Amino acid sequence: MTDWTDRRAAMVDALATRDDLTEQTLAAMRAVPRHEFVPRGSRRAAYKDTPLPIGKGQTISAPHMVALMTELLELQSGDTVLEIGTGCGYHAAVTAEVVGAENVYSVEYHDRLAAKARETLASAGYGAISVRAGDGKQGWSEHAPFDRAYLTCAASAFPQAVIEQVRPGGILLGPLGDRRQTLVRARRRADGSLDREEHSRVRFVPLK
Ligand code: SAH
Repeated sequence: MTDWTDRRAAMVDALATRDDLTEQTLAAMRAVPRHEFVPRGSRRAAYKDTPLPIGKGQTISAPHMVALMTELLELQSGDTVLEIGTGCGYHAAVTAEVVGAENVYSVEYHDRLAAKARETLASAGYGAISVRAGDGKQGWSEHAPFDRAYLTCAASAFPQAVIEQVRPGGILLGPLGDRRQTLVRARRRADGSLDREEHSRVRFVPLK
């Protein structure tokens, strides 16, 4: 019988050798059963540090990327967070481990992926995460202002509606650029402008 918990622990031990991840992030990665989120056919690879296909031409990011983004968002328990690109729901669950599931709002473009993510999240114990099918460029105004917002798909810039839905002092994070992208973290100033900081070169599926 496969011991998923051992495999996950080994994956997190490998992540822990990086010097840029805090225990808060590692604990979240240790808690979420990634194998329950990936398609059945990919389960055996669930704890390899690699992206995996989740259908509709979309991919779930590699664990180290989810961990890095969790870290860069400087999440605190109780923060209200907007995610654009629910995919299979894995990344949302990691975020929920830090801030609380009831504080996570995620928008997914594909109805089918949104419905499937809702199901998976509920069965894995993250049913309090809110998932909406629709265009993430519009954000989710009913639940604004957000302390944090992040994109799991690449855009040329942070969508204006999303910037407006983040509180002053809040953080936006996402892969910006066309075919090759840079992970950009920005802090929203009171006047709505952004204080941007560039991180690693990354490769994500494009925002629609
Ligand atoms: N965080 C996800 C990875 C998602 S891949 C996970 O853990 O599985 C990026 C996702 O963004 C895809 O599911 C894609 O359908 C979605 N997406 C692309 N454009 C979008 C848009 N305009 N609004 C919302 N979601 C979008």
